[in-house]
Amino acid sequence: MATVADTGLQFTNRPLTSPISADERAAVLANPGFGTKFSEHMVTIEWTEERGWHDAVIGPRGPIALDPACAVLHYAQEIFEGLKAYRHPDGSVALFRPYANAERFNRSARRLAMPELPENVFVESVRRLVEADRDWLPSVEGGSLYLRPFMFASEVFLGVRPAKEYKYIVIASPAGNYFKSGAPAVSIWVSQEYTRAAPGGTGAAKCGGNYAASLVPQAEAIREGHDQVVFLDAVENKWVEELGGMNLYFVFDDGTLLTPPLSGTILAGITRDSLLTLARDEGLTVREERYSLDQWREDAKSGRLVECFACGTAAVVTPVGKVAGHDGEFTIGSGGPGQLTQELKDRLVAIQRGEAPDPHGWVMKLS
Ligand SMILES: *Cc1c(COP(=O)(O)O)cnc(C)c1O
Repeated sequence: MATVADTGLQFTNRPLTSPISADERAAVLANPGFGTKFSEHMVTIEWTEERGWHDAVIGPRGPIALDPACAVLHYAQEIFEGLKAYRHPDGSVALFRPYANAERFNRSARRLAMPELPENVFVESVRRLVEADRDWLPSVEGGSLYLRPFMFASEVFLGVRPAKEYKYIVIASPAGNYFKSGAPAVSIWVSQEYTRAAPGGTGAAKCGGNYAASLVPQAEAIREGHDQVVFLDAVENKWVEELGGMNLYFVFDDGTLLTPPLSGTILAGITRDSLLTLARDEGLTVREERYSLDQWREDAKSGRLVECFACGTAAVVTPVGKVAGHDGEFTIGSGGPGQLTQELKDRLVAIQRGEAPDPHGWVMKLS
């Protein structure tokens, strides 16, 4: 069996024992939703201090046994990634910028004192899963196969130090549209009591703990009648950072764009980076600058701010129509999806789906 280049790691194939019927799968794929249905395979790779990465397996998806003293259950050493596989018009399947996810996974690993996974092993693990589960790619409009690589401390011990054993797993979930309502623009709630990330903290790492901390403010947003929460910086409680799982862009009446800079408290989204590149390709000016809540409100009211959108792999681009907080609410533009927002989204989606040329080499076609 071939090894992953330069790593000596071999993948073992374990066949499915009871594959699902084509009819059952078709029923799932007709209405996949988001994050509740899963494909049939998973990849697992083990790491120990003595052996490094070993025992790479692609096999049936199923429960994993964990000792109750498994370190992740107590000290939350866990990181993850999210990317998608798309079916192209020629019938092939492609990943979008998987090496960017591999690189970010290792940045997260370093921050959480976890071992790095060679980038080619990360990409190979995802590639193998998509190939094994290619029948799980939904053909519904906007459908994709969402891939979730993650790693956690699996060593059995109580004590605060980096674990000496880790498990890396990749699972896949067929996805339709992210927002259940399919709403054209979302309403967001400004959290002024809670923050997501502080300087020196883990805000730039994609770790489960950041999400755990965002659940109370997210619940507050829902309770107040909004879709998502937006966080301000933790020092001055003034600068707009991002949503719980999406970066933000602002579009002004002079055609320029602004997105908050990667200051260490913002997650470096691959969608954010791709849109930055595409907007500059179009000759648009994009500033990476701090933007305050007060300025946001003032610009929305004066009409200088014409559009606003959130972006991330799961939902791609989501227009923001309304913003609310303790000091009242304001509407952006018409309150609906903006024109530039839609154009940028269409450009990105066309590249991801193989419907437009890929000038930056972002698309990785699988055989
Ligand atoms: C994953 C994530 C994003 C979006 O990143 P993409 O690479 O575009 O999917 C933005 N913010 C947070 C906090 C995230 O966890």
